[in-house]
Amino acid sequence: MNPSGPLKVAVVGSGPSGFYAAEALLAAGAEVDLIERLPTPFGLVRFGVAPDHPKLKQVCQNFTEIASHERFAFFGNVTLGSDVAVDELRELYDAVVVASGASADRKLGVPGEDLAGSWSATEFVAWYNGHPDFRDRTFDLSGDAAVILGQGNVAIDVCRLLSKSADELRQTDISAHALEALAESHIRDIHLVGRRGPAQAKWTAKELRELGLLTEAEVALEPADLVLGAACEAELSDPRGQSAAQSFKILKTFQARAAGQKRKTIHLRFNLNPAAIEGQGRVESVIFERCSLTGEPFAQVATPTGETAAIAAAAVFRSVGYRGVMTEGLPFDARSGAIPHDRGRVLETGAPVPGVYVAGWIKRGPSGVIGVNRACSLETIESLLADIVRPSPGKVGRRALASLLEKRKTHAVDFNGWKRIDAAERQIGSENGKPREKLTSIADMLVVANGARVGHGPFLLQ
Ligand code: NAP
Repeated sequence: MNPSGPLKVAVVGSGPSGFYAAEALLAAGAEVDLIERLPTPFGLVRFGVAPDHPKLKQVCQNFTEIASHERFAFFGNVTLGSDVAVDELRELYDAVVVASGASADRKLGVPGEDLAGSWSATEFVAWYNGHPDFRDRTFDLSGDAAVILGQGNVAIDVCRLLSKSADELRQTDISAHALEALAESHIRDIHLVGRRGPAQAKWTAKELRELGLLTEAEVALEPADLVLGAACEAELSDPRGQSAAQSFKILKTFQARAAGQKRKTIHLRFNLNPAAIEGQGRVESVIFERCSLTGEPFAQVATPTGETAAIAAAAVFRSVGYRGVMTEGLPFDARSGAIPHDRGRVLETGAPVPGVYVAGWIKRGPSGVIGVNRACSLETIESLLADIVRPSPGKVGRRALASLLEKRKTHAVDFNGWKRIDAAERQIGSENGKPREKLTSIADMLVVANGARVGHGPFLLQ
């Protein structure tokens, strides 16, 4: 046994990349403290995965197993930057791994983007998933049409949530406030619009297929959109285009179906680049430049034809990607919205910052399904273990962090505290026929984490 004990590593962010980094570090014999801004773990698995996709959330069982390791500790409700500085963590630990994800949204940069009734998908998703920072948002769904800009899996999630009936949603862990608002929604026409063609849409076939299984909504397509040019045909017959080819087949099956059978319609629209969001004080329509594709296969870009098109809608959801945010004390590339790195080693003006590493979306940008983060975190931890062979005797780690937080009166939540929140949420959920009803106020979470039982004590579920 090394006289300094195990390598001491702080991992910041408890989404998939943070947990996968912790798993790899524990396997290498390190002691891992996982620091999280919220009292609850799991990041986008809790606040990003759609409520009607419970299977995707099963990965939390693996994360819970990782958390049960004797060399692991969770410090929830601790914000990097305000509760503890990056440099303080560097003082206390042999290494710091930043896995803070991408919590903001990419901007479209068109006039009217900030009109009332124009929202980022990021905030809508966080709202229906009960994120404490978004629970008080209101979404006016009283119009009969909505436009979703972007054709990735987030856009599909938003579309499905707007398309499902209250009865379908009631059985999920959707937050009560969102269920109530969606049950009152008047939206009947949902336009899911991409700037490029069907061969370039970013959704995956599995998610697209689900749009054809909705009880209350059917898909409508413009026949001309499914006529492909030579470059698109080349993409679909290339092994790299396998997923797009599968999706294209699904679109063909949608097209073959009879129309006018269901209450709601999902209009899949292509080759429309958003140019402006217009309205008197609030959203009334979206103006698009009609585009055609130019360029080589896999490098085709949307090129305006000179024609415009308008879609009338009272609600717009901009679903054009997430974006990482800067943390004080860490380098940041504002253009990509990520932390510059070399195989996970954080770089400042091209040189590695000793002992600081990065993993997940804040490392490589907001792309890839949950499992992709595993390989990403493994690469980072490989670099870390190659650089830091031995623990340093001066690094106190966990004990020093706990006393620093106590001195600052930061109420850190440990994993047992989270388990109490988890049990309370499941209990409230089961009383309402749902798998869980998330606590959405940090104050409530802290009371429950400290041992108050549901229905007792001062906390209310508001
Ligand atoms: P995404 O997959 O990158 O899709 C972004 C969409 O926005 C694309 O259609 C893109 O079109 C479009 N876009 C970007 N900039 C635009 C602009 N200025 N004007 C018009 N359109 C623009 O992002 P995402 O949907 O946020 O998803 C992020 C990641 O999470 C993805 O890897 C996704 O698969 C994953 N995810 C997975 C699931 C699931 O497994 N069920 C659920 C949700 C998210 P271009 O291609 O033309 O740029």
